Amino acid sequence: FAIDDDGKLRLHKLRDIDPIAAYASERLSRADIRLTELQQPHYDRFAVADVRYLAMFVPLIDHGAEPWLMGVYAPEDELARKIRDGQRESIVLGVAVSVLVVTAAIMVGMILLRPVYTLQRQAQEDPLTGLLNRRSFENLAQRRLANAERQRMDISALMIDVDSFKPINDVHGHAVGDEVLQAIARRLSSGISNLDLLARYGGEEFVVLVGGSKTRARNIAERLRALIGEEPIRTSAGPLSVTISVGVAEFRTSGEPLEELLKRADIRLLSAKSTGRNRVDSAA
Ligand code: GH3
Ligand code: MG
Ligand code: MG
Repeated sequence: FAIDDDGKLRLHKLRDIDPIAAYASERLSRADIRLTELQQPHYDRFAVADVRYLAMFVPLIDHGAEPWLMGVYAPEDELARKIRDGQRESIVLGVAVSVLVVTAAIMVGMILLRPVYTLQRQAQEDPLTGLLNRRSFENLAQRRLANAERQRMDISALMIDVDSFKPINDVHGHAVGDEVLQAIARRLSSGISNLDLLARYGGEEFVVLVGGSKTRARNIAERLRALIGEEPIRTSAGPLSVTISVGVAEFRTSGEPLEELLKRADIRLLSAKSTGRNRVDSAA
């Protein structure tokens, strides 16, 4: 960590630690390559203060909202000299050594990054239910909308709110309320496909982004409603019957922002509430 001029704690900037690495990554973005969208290794060659360098960027793992990549650079001379000096060494050996070095670097990197991954996962998860939290949902959902737009695919948002949840807290206590929320999260997870995106949006509100036709979205909403309402939830205060209301809105593939899509789903949700709860409502 570094301390800013105004006394705030921040992560070191690459520039502070290794200006050549910083320059190499700047070149990457200048070449219009989005670091976060790198799909295959990218090679580069550049000079700093009359020294020539070779650089390589490899996408590591797509860990949820923030993908990681690893960059390696080396002075070209050093590499070239090795090849010149070691005429006896075969190129094959040289390549094998480079592959080994890169593999070792990636493994060391992954070990070093493990605590970072843990922190990152904790930052993306809602601690009570283990679902995605609102912030990471918004990150991922924005990418999915952009994707759906590019590929002209249908996608819809489901806004879910637990009906009359406050009385559960009032009657049985907050801890039982928490148990109910955890059970609801599990049931919702079991009712969607791995490809759909489910998150805890707020207190007793959940959100799902589902791909496919509007009919599919409506069917999933109905299924989730049934999954929650049909069978009482077992809690330490005994079985409790709970229902949900769901608002469905279909993404408009004309660059509609996520915020607008969710707002429209929320309007449908309010309509489901005002027309009796334990219902699914979708725009006409
Ligand atoms: P409606 O059918 O209109 O949605 O009624 P409601 O009672 O569900 O709505 P309201 O928004 O009044 O109540 C939501 C309650 O959810 C209030 C809040 O205390 C509770 N809540 C929010 N987050 C948590 C949580 O993490 N745990 C527990 N136990 N309760 C929570
Ligand atoms: Mg609510
Ligand atoms: Mg509610």
